[in-house]
Parts: sequence; C-alpha cells; structure tokens
Amino acid sequence: MSTSLPVIDLRSDTVTRPTPAMREAMARAEVGDDVYGEDPTVNALQARLAVELGFEAGLFVPSGTQSNLLALLAHCERGDEYIVGMDAHTYRYEGGGAAVLGSIQPQPLVQAADGSLPVDAVEQAIKPDDPHFARTRLLCLENTWHGRVLPMDYLAAARALCDRRGLSLHLDGARLFNAAVALGLPPRAIVRHFDSVSVCLSKGLGAPVGSVLLGSQALIAQARRWRKVAGGGMRQAGILAAAGLHALDHHAAALADDHARAARLAAALEGMSAVRLAAQHTNMVFIDVVAGGTDGFRAHMEAAGVRVSVGYTPRVRLVLHRDVDDVGVERTIEALRSFSE
Ligand SMILES: *Cc1c(COP(=O)(O)O)cnc(C)c1O
Repeated sequence: MSTSLPVIDLRSDTVTRPTPAMREAMARAEVGDDVYGEDPTVNALQARLAVELGFEAGLFVPSGTQSNLLALLAHCERGDEYIVGMDAHTYRYEGGGAAVLGSIQPQPLVQAADGSLPVDAVEQAIKPDDPHFARTRLLCLENTWHGRVLPMDYLAAARALCDRRGLSLHLDGARLFNAAVALGLPPRAIVRHFDSVSVCLSKGLGAPVGSVLLGSQALIAQARRWRKVAGGGMRQAGILAAAGLHALDHHAAALADDHARAARLAAALEGMSAVRLAAQHTNMVFIDVVAGGTDGFRAHMEAAGVRVSVGYTPRVRLVLHRDVDDVGVERTIEALRSFSE
C-alpha cells in the first residue's frame, strides 16, 4: 500500500487537528487576561456552556484531568472520599491526582458492564460517620464510558441515592456530547441530575486544547481558586476558548458521523478470522486480536497506514473521529481484512 496516503489515526479522538475555519476563529478571538476574569472569549465560552448545560457557572481549564481534579478538590476536603468506578478515568488515568494533591481518598467500585456503579454497591460503600472512616462525600460517574452511554434511568437513580445519603454527584462528561448525540437528547437532559460536570473540547469536538467545568457559583469559585493553585490560570486564553466555541457551533452535531462510521467498521468485522468484534458504542470499536498477536496486528496496520495503540491484552480500542472520513474507514476495513487472510 502506498505510504503517501494520509495516516488514519485510530488511537484516540484526541488526535483531531484544528480545521482552517477553527484556526481562523482562533486568530480573530478577542482576548484579555483571564486570571483577572477579563478575557471576553473565555467568558463567552463559560457562559454559553453554563446556559446550554443548565448550570450557574463554568470554568475553562487546560485539560479534562485538571477539570476533574478541580471538581474533586472543590467538592471534597482532606480526609473525605469519593466513590468512583474501578476503571473510571478519574480513578485510573489521572495519576491519583485527588489523593496526591487533595488528600482525598478514592473508594473504587467494580463497574457493571454498562459502566454504571450499581446503586446498592454504592450505598454499601458509604462509610458511617465515625472517625475510623474517611467521610464519603461524592459519587463520580463517567458518561460515555468506553463509548457506552449510561442509561438515563440509572442517572435518576444515582441522583436519588445521593439525595438520600447526602452525597454530591459529579460527572466526568469528557464525551458528554457523544452521549447526547447517541440518545438524540440535548446534553442538558443528561446532566440535569449532577452537581458538576466536566466536558472535554479536545476530544471528538476537535478543539486543540481545553475542558470546561460546570457547577454552582460557589463550586466554580472554589474550582477557580484551585485552578490557580494547580497552575492552570491562563492569560490570553481566548485564543483557545475561541476554538472551543467554534467546535460547539460546528462540530457537535457531526459526532453522529463518527458513530455511524464506528457502526460501519463494526459491521465489517463480521466473518473476519484474526480479529473479532467485542463491542461498538458511539465512536468506539473494541476488537479482540485472536490470531497473529497484538504486536503483529499493530505492525500490520501501521504498514497499511492505520495507527492503533495496543496494550497488554488482546483487546484493542479503535476510536473514530472527525479526521477519519468514509475513505479512511474503508481503508481500515481493507487493512483488517488483509490481516485476517
Ligand atoms: C480524555 C478524558 C479525560 C481528560 O483527559 P485530558 O487528556 O486530561 O484532557 C477525562 N475523562 C475521560 C473519560 C477522558 O476520556
């Protein structure tokens, strides 16, 4: 296969590059010093998402990791704990930040196959008010989780539990807009049960940098303080916020195309011998490499111009995003087929 074809990068939806129109919007952005709260474009992005998602206030931050960290620091104090999925991003993939920087203990629980934390298990994990125990303060969910959309009735049940037991509820909504598109609902309908939500602009939405944390005025004031402490106070950040605004205007609805391409890829796996479909949800396809080994698989795909990341298990995650078009999907299918031959 010719190496002059563009590389199809299926490692993550974080690899999306800003479009010329997005760069144009960034270049034109009005800016000010955001640590003084004076960047009009940052303020516009924060206000827009607060209104759109139904919260009092928003805070623009450099990354989803920092956004979740600030939420944990704002909800919890030293000696508190949050209940979280064993395989949730906030527990597993954020360097233990809440424990490292906030003396906040995680209480991880095994997630159900759909990504939910069974309400009974959460309830049993809540510690009694007793100096032997950390104070359970917060339940943290993730939507989508490995591409899966949490059931809406589960979100209501989680809220009811939190109300009954006096917990706050945070959503790692890095891919909230994927969930909204998949459900055909406004994102606001999904997050209405939550006290705070973090959304990533730099995943499938295609902005180069940035996440936004949403919550009450009081919570966001706390988070703003921690953002400065964590070194996340940016100055003329409107250039970055402009990319986020552009992404919300022009890229959110197109996430449906990524989902359709993921479904097309999943369907094409039928009957292949060396790779088997494990699951497909929203923009993610999970396959098991059942012959040829994952290193062999990665090398084969790389030679065909398709970049994938493999770990220590036979399961490989393929992520669709706006920089992979229909031609890219067909090239990927061709490469998978030739691996199976
Ligand atoms: C990507 C991601 C984050 C945040 O990631 P950053 O790389 O720090 O922006 C948080 N949660 C989930 C589920 C994610 O996929």
